Amino acid sequence: MRANPWIFNLPEYVPGKTIEEVKKKYNLKTVYKLASNENIWGPAPQVLKCIEKTVNEINYYPDSYCRDLKEKLSLKYNVSPDNIIVGNGTDEIIGFIADCFICIGQNAVVFDPTFSTYEKSVLKCGGKVIKVPLENLRQNVVSMVDAIDTKTKIIFLTNPHNPTGTNITEDEFKSLVKDVSGDILIVVDEAYYEYMPPEDRVDTLNYVRKHDNLIILRTFSKIYGLAGLRIGYGISSSKVISALNRVRLPFNVNSMAQKAALVALENDSYVEEIRKKVIAEKEKFYKVLKNCGIEFIESYANFVCIKVGDKTKKIVEELLKKGFIVRPGENLGLPGYIRVTISLPEINDMFLEAFTRIYRNVVEHAYIKDV
Ligand code: PMP
Repeated sequence: MRANPWIFNLPEYVPGKTIEEVKKKYNLKTVYKLASNENIWGPAPQVLKCIEKTVNEINYYPDSYCRDLKEKLSLKYNVSPDNIIVGNGTDEIIGFIADCFICIGQNAVVFDPTFSTYEKSVLKCGGKVIKVPLENLRQNVVSMVDAIDTKTKIIFLTNPHNPTGTNITEDEFKSLVKDVSGDILIVVDEAYYEYMPPEDRVDTLNYVRKHDNLIILRTFSKIYGLAGLRIGYGISSSKVISALNRVRLPFNVNSMAQKAALVALENDSYVEEIRKKVIAEKEKFYKVLKNCGIEFIESYANFVCIKVGDKTKKIVEELLKKGFIVRPGENLGLPGYIRVTISLPEINDMFLEAFTRIYRNVVEHAYIKDV
């Protein structure tokens, strides 16, 4: 009995530490997880109420077609339900995309670093990944187009990008769509889309209406605060969606997630409130870091990457001792940085206080006293 040989090339996902693990290891009462870009405020109160009610229905299978949710999304975006697929997180939809478009010997082009699920999904299908290094921490779409070869089936863009939080502009996107052949699928992963100021968002839906070979991915895991329920969606031509639906298993999205997402979409003002709070908190981060002369990457998402140089490991460890879990850049392909999720104002204050003190000791004075 042998697994397919290419399976052994799949990189293993290195998850962030759990709150319980850190509490136990460092004997802490309170630990703050700032590692996975969740919305720490959580979902809108109406969504929580709806989840409580749905508990009574979990003996039934969920709606396999996510009819109500697709209907709502189709009204919101003025597309047909046939243009929408709902997945167990966008992670699952990325998997469907690779299943449908990649076979042995073919490839996808991704930026390096980027969100790791793209690579894993493509390798799982026996495909290869062509990696295009970021330039000045941004995705250069011209370099991506140059990297495409005759075996390329998919290209993956992330806007805003993970792990950097940098963006792709409308002009950049327009030139990419113009230069990519219609038989290559363009995936635009917009997991953090709602965190962007409206004036900086690319109107990708407008491109989906004109181009068959484009799929947008969005999720309820980020600004909507439903990461634990696992629900995301894709919008594309009916041709692409029909292919993806064929590899989808019947009950891929649970009933609580479907109902919660419906209510989440009815609470736009809550989403707007979270966006504004995150922007205000990011400004606070920037101000404190600038005052301390610490470099960081300005971000369109709900996280900030902070440059800490070759002392990442030590800084991450010292932060853990203080009860803050952050993501070391090494695990994200961004060595020399830590990635920190923006949290509630009081938690951010405590984090910044602890971090700047640790940074001063570890990086500037190169020693650890009582930090
Ligand atoms: N895309 C990007 C860029 C992400 O950062 C994430 C979450 N880390 C996802 C997709 C996955 O989202 P979901 O929870 O919907 O699977």
